[in-house]
Amino acid sequence: SPEPTPILQADGLVKRFGGFYALGGLTFHVAPGEILGLVGPNGSGKTTAINVISGLYAPDGGRVTFEGRSIGGLASHRLVHLGINRTFQVPKPFLSLTVRQNIEVALAYGRSASAPPSIESLLQEYRLAEVADRPAQDLNNVQQKTLDLVRALATGPRLLLLDELAAGLNPTELDWIASRIRSLAQAGMAIIVVEHLMGFIEQITDRVIVMNAGKEIFEGTLAVAVKVPEVIEVFLGG
Ligand code: ADP
Repeated sequence: SPEPTPILQADGLVKRFGGFYALGGLTFHVAPGEILGLVGPNGSGKTTAINVISGLYAPDGGRVTFEGRSIGGLASHRLVHLGINRTFQVPKPFLSLTVRQNIEVALAYGRSASAPPSIESLLQEYRLAEVADRPAQDLNNVQQKTLDLVRALATGPRLLLLDELAAGLNPTELDWIASRIRSLAQAGMAIIVVEHLMGFIEQITDRVIVMNAGKEIFEGTLAVAVKVPEVIEVFLGG
């Protein structure tokens, strides 16, 4: 079957910190409805890739297009309005605001993106209804992670970037969050997942990019990736 047209295409992305190349020419794409995993050893540039795609850092080279439009160097808030949003390894809610208020802020921030879900439906679907009127600082780990995801969803993204969303979750919570992510993809969202838990990556991704030293060294399914000598070597040697 023909490959769907990518919603995001990155070609030869470069990001330097001083003389160090965190991304040394990274090329990948993701299509609507697809869950792409970025995997690789610590320091291989996965989070930097998310940071560049989400506008936290401007790339030092290469090209990124979203829905056919060049977006390299656009600031995060512009990208949110275009339909790209993310979660963070360490969630950063407004701690003294309630869960509901945090979502309201996100809804206002993403005002021009595609039609966002309602606050009530988000609270219900993501199991935050019971804590809706509590300050975000009272939330436990899974609730903090979930709120971060919901805040991203409230801006109506068509491309969602998840950085270590699964870290620290127990197996039941992992299954639940995996089912939520899959249902977002089934509704047409493009999703990029950075995750260390290979079981979780295997469970939810359609395809992975294996990174090493700021470049892709493999593209395909995780099942195939784990049989490729170069991939095995970077994981064992990394
Ligand atoms: P990964 O997510 O694969 O573990 P990162 O993208 O976090 O890797 O980091 C890639 C490399 O870039 C690492 O060597 C890291 O130390 C470096 N790096 C990342 N962000 C910065 C930064 N803001 N300043 C300097 N070096 C950074």
